[in-house]
Amino acid sequence: MSGKADPRSTGEGTTSRTRLDRGRGVLGPALALVHTGRAPTRAVLTAELGVTRATAGAVAAELEALGLIRVDARPGAAAGSQGRPSHRLSLAEDGPVALAAQVHADGFRAALVGLGGRIVATAPGCETVDADPAKVLGSVVDAGAELLRETGRRCVGAGLAVPSAVAEPEGLALNPLHLAWPAGAAVRDTFAERVRAAGITGPAFAANDVNLAALAEHRHGAGRGARDLLCVATGHRGVGGALVLDGRLHTGSSGLALEVGHLTVNPEGRPCHCGSRGCLDVEADPLALLTTAGRAPGPEVSLLQQGMDLLRHEYDDPAVRTAAETLIDRLGLGLAGLVNILNPDRIILGGLHRTLLDTDPERLRAVVADRSLWGQSGGVPILACTLDHNSLVGAAELAWQPVLDDPLTALTGS
Ligand SMILES: [Zn+2]
Repeated sequence: MSGKADPRSTGEGTTSRTRLDRGRGVLGPALALVHTGRAPTRAVLTAELGVTRATAGAVAAELEALGLIRVDARPGAAAGSQGRPSHRLSLAEDGPVALAAQVHADGFRAALVGLGGRIVATAPGCETVDADPAKVLGSVVDAGAELLRETGRRCVGAGLAVPSAVAEPEGLALNPLHLAWPAGAAVRDTFAERVRAAGITGPAFAANDVNLAALAEHRHGAGRGARDLLCVATGHRGVGGALVLDGRLHTGSSGLALEVGHLTVNPEGRPCHCGSRGCLDVEADPLALLTTAGRAPGPEVSLLQQGMDLLRHEYDDPAVRTAAETLIDRLGLGLAGLVNILNPDRIILGGLHRTLLDTDPERLRAVVADRSLWGQSGGVPILACTLDHNSLVGAAELAWQPVLDDPLTALTGS
C-alpha cells in the first residue's frame, strides 16, 4: 500500500473503505463503464473516472465485494510489453441477474440477463394473448421465476417490453394495436403485482419494445458510440422507432415520442388500424412481406420468423424478390423522412428490417440517399442491430438502472 495510512485503519479493508468514502460517488459510473465494456482494466477505469489510482482500486474492490465484477490482479503480460500490466476488470460470471420479460403478438419470452447485456437463460412461450394483460404477464413472470429457481441467481428487479407506446409516469400501454389488450391498460402495475406475487424482489418497470431495443443496442450492440442514434424495427407485427440522444432515450413529454409506424409511405396503400392508410406499420412489417409475396401466413411459427425465412431461403423466387424490393423502397422512404427531421449520426435496423438490409443493402441505402436532403451525401450509416433479443436486454437495462445509479444502496440498502 502506498500513500498516507488512515490513523483509524487496522488493515487494508478499512483503508479501502476510507478511500471508498471518497469514491462512493463514482461507484455507479465505474460499474457503468465495466458494464458497457469501456473499462477493461483498472488503468482505463482510473483515467475514465478522473480519480486517483487508490480511489479506483477501492471502487473496483467494492464492486467485486458486491459480486458484480471480478478484478484479476495478475493478468498475463503481453509479450514485449513494458512494466506491470494493469489489473483486468471483467463482469462476475455468477453475479446477480435482472428478470426480463417480453410480450408480443405471438406470445412471450422470459430471460435472465446479467450485467453486460449477457443473457444467462431464456424461455419462450407461445400463447394467444388474452384481452386481460394479467394472463400473459402472469405466464411470462412464472416462466422467469422458474428460470430463477433453476439457476439460483439473485434477482435485482424486473423489466417488461411491450409492443405499445407506454405512457409515463403511469405505465399505461396506450396503443397495443396488435394485442387484444384494452387501450390504456395499466401494464406496469399489473406486471409489478405479478412479480411480487411470484416472490421476486426488486423494482419492476415497463416500456415500449423498440425503445428498449435501441437502449440495449446503444449500450452493448450496433449503436455503441453513436450520439444521435435512430432505431427502426419490426416486431412480430407493426413497425416501431426510437431515438437515443447522448446515451438517453428520447421519450418525449410523456413517453410517446418516435411513433414512426404511422408515417405514410404509400398514400394509396393498406388501411391502417390508426385510421390512416399506407402507414409504415402496415406496409413494411412481416405480414406485409408475406402478403405482397402472395404467401398466406401460416400458424406454425411467428410471422417474423416466416418473413425472415422467406427472405433467407426463397429469395430466388421472383415474387419474393419483388416483394422484398417493394418493402425496402417503402422502408427507405420512411427512413428518408426521419433522416431529414432528426439528422441522426447512425441508423440501426432490427427484426425483419435487419434482414431486409442484409438482403439488399445497396438498394435501401440508395433509396434513403435519393429521397432525403441529408441522406444525399451518403453520410448516415445504416447498420443491422447485432444483439439477439435486444428488447429483452433493454428490459433488463431498466431493472439494472438503479444498480448502475447507486450500487451500494440498490444491493445493500446502505
Ligand atoms: Zn397507421
